[in-house]
Amino acid sequence: MLLEIDDITLHYGRIQALHGISLHVNEGEVVALIGANGAGKSTIMRAISGLRAVSRGAIRFNGEDISKVRADLRVARGICQAPEGRGVFPGMTVQENLEMGAYIRRDHAEIAKDMERVFGLFPRLLERRKQAGGTLSGGEQQMLAVGRALMARPKLLLLDEPSMGLAPMIIQQIFTIITEINQQGTTVLLVEQNAQQALSRAHRAYVLETGNIVKEGTGADLLHDPAVKAAYLGVA
Ligand code: ATP
Repeated sequence: MLLEIDDITLHYGRIQALHGISLHVNEGEVVALIGANGAGKSTIMRAISGLRAVSRGAIRFNGEDISKVRADLRVARGICQAPEGRGVFPGMTVQENLEMGAYIRRDHAEIAKDMERVFGLFPRLLERRKQAGGTLSGGEQQMLAVGRALMARPKLLLLDEPSMGLAPMIIQQIFTIITEINQQGTTVLLVEQNAQQALSRAHRAYVLETGNIVKEGTGADLLHDPAVKAAYLGVA
């Protein structure tokens, strides 16, 4: 088990956003979190990356409780989140953005290899490597955000709504690349509104409602679950 979340609660001031969440991610998996707006998906990601402190419960990574570990030290341990809302550095070139992703690393030869790998996954970024991040299209910025996260060589890649605001064809591409990244050895935890895509790509998934996990199963099982279909897949 790479990540184990054990009964966490989290508050924003007096608002309780998570009510005792437990979930796990095994090494090598793609796991998806699905649920309506406000269900708490992004909050779980923030708790894992350390941007928000949990009020109770444990977050174990490789068997160690990291719930009190600073966010930057969690990155050093191998947990890396592609920034929400894309968050690329607009004034830096594509290449510089990717280099920033590797800022904690000193293994220059390996960094160069990973840059090649990112360009292999995203040929569009190679074409635009001298272009400022802020001038890229939405889809390209999303690719850059994922590429930058990969440059940290994470053990666990956290992706928050990678398909948000993108055209259907680009969404397909992004999910295909997520599968490729996983097949190359990175474990992925994914938050998605696009439940259809997420469940078709994930080994397992959790369904979240108002800060509680209400269902879990394999992606395939949940895709065929009548309640999930009705609530999240737009079919009665
Ligand atoms: P969405 O898909 O809309 O982002 P989500 O499932 O990711 O939804 P969260 O963003 O995790 O949901 O929000 C969970 C709950 O916590 C919501 O009720 C939300 O209003 C509340 N919340 C989130 N961020 C804050 C904040 N910074 N301050 C106060 N309340 C917050």
